[in-house]
Amino acid sequence: MELIVEDAVVITMAADAGPAGALLVRDGRIAAVGTPEQVRAAAGRGAQVVRLDGATVVPGLIDAHCHVADVGYLATAADCSQPSAPDIPAIQARLREAADRTPEGAWVTGGGYVEYKLREGRHPTRDELDQAVPNRPAVVYHTSLHACVLNTAALREAGFADRQPDPAGGAFGRDRDGRLDGVVFERPMFQLFERNLRQDLARMGSAERNRLVERASQQLASFGLTAACDADLRRDSFAAYAEADAGGLLGLRIYGLVVHDQVEWLLGAGLRGRHSGRLAVEAVKIWADGGMSSRTAAIHGSYPVPPYGSGILYFELDELTAMVREFDALGFQVCIHAQGDRAIETVLDAYAAVTAPGNPLRHRIEHGGSLYAPLAARAAELGIVVAAQPGMLSLLGDGFAEAFGERADELYAYASWRRAGITVAGSSDAPVITADPRLGMRDAMRRRTDGGRVLGPGEELTAGDALALYTTQAAFASRREDEIGSLEPGKLADFAVLDGNPLVVEPERIPDIRVVATVVDGAPVYQSDSIFPGG
Ligand SMILES: [Zn+2]
Repeated sequence: MELIVEDAVVITMAADAGPAGALLVRDGRIAAVGTPEQVRAAAGRGAQVVRLDGATVVPGLIDAHCHVADVGYLATAADCSQPSAPDIPAIQARLREAADRTPEGAWVTGGGYVEYKLREGRHPTRDELDQAVPNRPAVVYHTSLHACVLNTAALREAGFADRQPDPAGGAFGRDRDGRLDGVVFERPMFQLFERNLRQDLARMGSAERNRLVERASQQLASFGLTAACDADLRRDSFAAYAEADAGGLLGLRIYGLVVHDQVEWLLGAGLRGRHSGRLAVEAVKIWADGGMSSRTAAIHGSYPVPPYGSGILYFELDELTAMVREFDALGFQVCIHAQGDRAIETVLDAYAAVTAPGNPLRHRIEHGGSLYAPLAARAAELGIVVAAQPGMLSLLGDGFAEAFGERADELYAYASWRRAGITVAGSSDAPVITADPRLGMRDAMRRRTDGGRVLGPGEELTAGDALALYTTQAAFASRREDEIGSLEPGKLADFAVLDGNPLVVEPERIPDIRVVATVVDGAPVYQSDSIFPGG
């Protein structure tokens, strides 16, 4: 089947090519790109024609680091976001509804609230959750996933007691008498989320698992995303993706980074490699340190703010080097989470002992927040790819500035990294922040925190470079630049239709550009207007 897309501004992202006016899709691939005349001439007589009224077509956007199963899990929770649930009584009503459909033994789960957007201007409390769900555990996750609220039954099941001191790396909210008010911050919250996700995945039947994967793909597709690297692939999430893929329900290409301690399982089960055009596992994920907002990223020196430490390094250099050597020898792309300069230095030392420029496995650093200039030069020299999250600049940038003091302007130095010769891929780390790459593009271009500070003036990217983060560069980081990332004949027909041109509008307006349709393999996986056949 052939499809002509015309009356469009086609941003191909192909090297040295300007925008085109039309493209031809044949059997799920791009068959021609050019002027409407050229494309019509290349098409057969029966080709269907879709006219886009001047809309912009960009290559399908790619999120190089996303927690896809977590996104789907939260998307299936009760919607407690604002403005949909404007106040705490609305959240209570959503939880009551959710309780009716939550199986026995599972926690009643809601997500997406922002305390300052609620009419009450504060977090809900355990007592308020108890009123809605009195006799079984209930939890509502904050949209940042750095906090949540538990009811009394959930606090009990999690083992959190009133007289207990705050746990390491986290805190409990308390009322005036010191009693837990149900709010849990940071590390105990991450552990709880992870535990609940794993338990719920294990309990789900195939219909529910499919729904989780579908909701994740739908949400990402609504942002124009057609592919994502899953930065935390495990046995249970792999099974969910594989099942959805086999049922034709996977509307997104997923390239898995399997967690390092599950490599043995993956190899033993014979599941390494490309399962289909939509699902592949050829990379390994390792964590070298913690996070920047929680000040657990391993840095030289110490943080100027509590808890004043120098972060946590999870592996000594010799351990890390042995892991990199083993996975490299097995033919895996190695992707190591490293945020602080001490962690990044250790990772580069490990890579230097094992890899050299031109290694086709293209080992990566995930995040790379404090990849300061001398480290960036080393990374470039070794051919290390960086998967970064520009959207954190607005959403988490004020916290970074507080934690990094005078070095804050050196964080995520995208323009300098590019000049050093590093391939920088765009990503979100969703659900830590939204998976919306429009926000990431804007932040890569203006670097303004929500508090109004410009972090790292001079490190702003041009619109073309910002779009490249989520297209050509992310395709390279996924080792798929021969198939996706640009619109060229022979490549897969993955693209997004936008009602504005991100290369032309003010950076501030990019998040307002509407995604009209998202197309994978030439077929729509999302459309706000029914313009493509087959959706
Ligand atoms: Zn992550």
